[in-house]
Amino acid sequence: MFNYVVVGAGMAGSIIAERIASQLNKKVLIIERRDHIGGNCYDEVDENGIIRHLYGPHLFHAKNRDAYNYLQQFGEWSVYNHRVLAYIDGNKVPIPFNFNTIEQIFPQKLAQKYESKLLEHFEYGEKVPILELIKEEDQDLKYLAQFVYEKIFVNYSAKQWGMKPEDMDGLVTARVPICVSRDDRYFHDRYQAVPKRGYSSIFKAMLSHPNIKLLTNTDFREVMEIKSEDFYLFDKKFEGTLIYTGQIDELFDYKFGDLPYRSVRMHFETVDSEWYQEAATVNYPNDYDFTRITEFKHIHPVQSAKTTILKEFPQDYIKGENTPYYPIFTRENQERYQKYLEHSKAFKNLIMLGRLAEYRYYDMDSIVTRALEVFKEKVVGN
Ligand code: FAD
Ligand code: UDP
Repeated sequence: MFNYVVVGAGMAGSIIAERIASQLNKKVLIIERRDHIGGNCYDEVDENGIIRHLYGPHLFHAKNRDAYNYLQQFGEWSVYNHRVLAYIDGNKVPIPFNFNTIEQIFPQKLAQKYESKLLEHFEYGEKVPILELIKEEDQDLKYLAQFVYEKIFVNYSAKQWGMKPEDMDGLVTARVPICVSRDDRYFHDRYQAVPKRGYSSIFKAMLSHPNIKLLTNTDFREVMEIKSEDFYLFDKKFEGTLIYTGQIDELFDYKFGDLPYRSVRMHFETVDSEWYQEAATVNYPNDYDFTRITEFKHIHPVQSAKTTILKEFPQDYIKGENTPYYPIFTRENQERYQKYLEHSKAFKNLIMLGRLAEYRYYDMDSIVTRALEVFKEKVVGN
């Protein structure tokens, strides 16, 4: 009865299901373990009338227009440029670290010297990863890099990953570069927006197609089974295609060992005043056990006498106890993932897609691009 089964109603699963239903006119069954759609992008209106993102702040940003165009079909979006401050030595300064930050921290003469040095070594507008800046020979740039490394990166990364920045994949810290400009937006992509009525409304519209049947509160294992290289749905051999967006190691019973993740304990609070802080997010690299505080009213403006904030406490991922949020990049983990990937290729009608299934630190725009590409190449092209 179903041509496709999609496991997971997060962004990856929802997009591919929507494409199959609307473009191929085929029937799709989505199986979702949680009691809601949207995966980690899920949000809801809380008791203060404020939209809060249950799994951490989600801000859409994309370099290319296609991902944004695709999502705009499912509801209205508001242009939104995310701004973040970092609490350092008792002051809140803009990050990514830029000329405005330099001028707030250092005396005028020294600030001018750093800016001139940056402009001698880099183009105006360039974004320099901390692990690159720290290699500079120039004494002033060396000092500046060491300062930024110590005040912004080292303790935050210890909390977030339990690692030193230099032991991590350089691409992770390069997400927050040093900006040779005054651009203090957190992201520099051309398209930056949030859904006017929240992400959940977008997912609801995406999955409203009559060809899509959704089973929430249902784990893959409750309705499907793997026997040798075949899948069984409700005890009958499934002849269609399975698109799996959950953890790849879990699908194969951890046969090559566990793929590690970082998790986060999300702690929401209501504050009895109209506003709590000056920006949507304030990072606390060196103080407290949480990494950042987000105040949702800045992201989804609404009149309310109270305000909702979220503190994020990073922790190890423990199977069955908390949520696997961030894949951890080490060579060992990548090698283990490759074993799972190779194993998955033995299954003719299986497509692995998404942050958990591909063990990649995908942002939402990359997920949209990837899901549309997989739809074109592996679903239509098959
Ligand atoms: P998920 O959202 O994880 O969806 C997978 C779904 O599969 C889940 O709903 C899960 O319950 C379900 N599932 C898994 N296993 C099973 C099973 N066995 N049976 C049934 N269902 C199952 N991206 C941005 O672009 N901007 C941001 O600001 C941003 N902020 C983020 C903040 C945090 C704290 C985190 C963790 C991520 C953030 N992201 C952000 C990334 C974004 O969340 C992901 O790109 C996106 O959610 C990935 O979608 P997905 O469908 O691959 O995975
Ligand atoms: N980072 C940091 N200090 C900060 C902000 C970021 O050290 O104040 C590092 C940290 O390692 C973090 C990475 O840069 O995990 C990427 O930050 P980003 O804000 O993009 O993380 P996400 O929003 O995905 O959790």
